[in-house]
Amino acid sequence: MLNMKKILMVSFLGLMAFSIHAQEKIIPDNKGFFHIKVDDGLYVISNMAWGGLAEKGTPTQNAQLIIGSEKALLIDTSTPMEGFADYVRSITDLPLMVVNSHGHLDHIGNNNQFEEIFIHPADTALLREHFSNYGKPHFTVKLINDGEVIDLGNRKVNVYNLPGHTRGSIVFLDQKTSILITGDAIARRLLYTFGDWTDLSVYFQALERIGKLKFDSILSNHDRFLISPELISRLRGAITDNIETETKTWNLMGTEYIHIVPLNDQSDPEYIDIVILKDKLPDAINDLKNNGYL
Ligand SMILES: [Zn+2]
Repeated sequence: MLNMKKILMVSFLGLMAFSIHAQEKIIPDNKGFFHIKVDDGLYVISNMAWGGLAEKGTPTQNAQLIIGSEKALLIDTSTPMEGFADYVRSITDLPLMVVNSHGHLDHIGNNNQFEEIFIHPADTALLREHFSNYGKPHFTVKLINDGEVIDLGNRKVNVYNLPGHTRGSIVFLDQKTSILITGDAIARRLLYTFGDWTDLSVYFQALERIGKLKFDSILSNHDRFLISPELISRLRGAITDNIETETKTWNLMGTEYIHIVPLNDQSDPEYIDIVILKDKLPDAINDLKNNGYL
């Protein structure tokens, strides 16, 4: 059984009530919900309880909404918050497809406010396990696979499996804006890994594949701004450059992790932070060596 408190600690780590940059002028509704336009028909939806109007760089919780001419796509449902689906409906009344980027509990919390939820087959067990923290699921689980294309009418979104953060993590390429929406699979803060393990060499191969796609920017789940695609090579480089030397231990509710990149200023867009389970570190190093990455 997962310790919910522990996972929430990870999700909310570092959250503080900073005010957002003045020019963005965001007014939350009476339940604290607000949304930010990222690009044409692409929105980040959040709540004051999910990081508030945090300063750029501070970790936050979000969902992403892509609106086409015929249909809309909601990626992730964050942690439980009454009125979430109604808020999404206040932005679009088009037929809505809801997909979880992976099964972690800070991405699935409002699944019960929707009739059906799509997820990659490799994360269905994780979804069941993590949702048990919230009660009985009332939604129907549908599967979405690598290579599928979601047709929203005037725009299409490609779906790719990117095993690493979880086995069934998926990323979404919005063809219209050329933005890759990555959940936690490619992120400035890479938690590797929580309760499920994928060899780093498998993750590296998956990153190589995704890195060859054409896209202009990355939008990950816990940030609200676009990041350069160079993040992919920087993540890989940070792991291989530091995994054998960095030994900064981080104890989170009794479990030991290693920060394999030193912490620095989160408001710097270049900031990355990679955390790996201490027990898995020797195996991870061997795996990278055996596969020619170290
Ligand atoms: Zn996650």
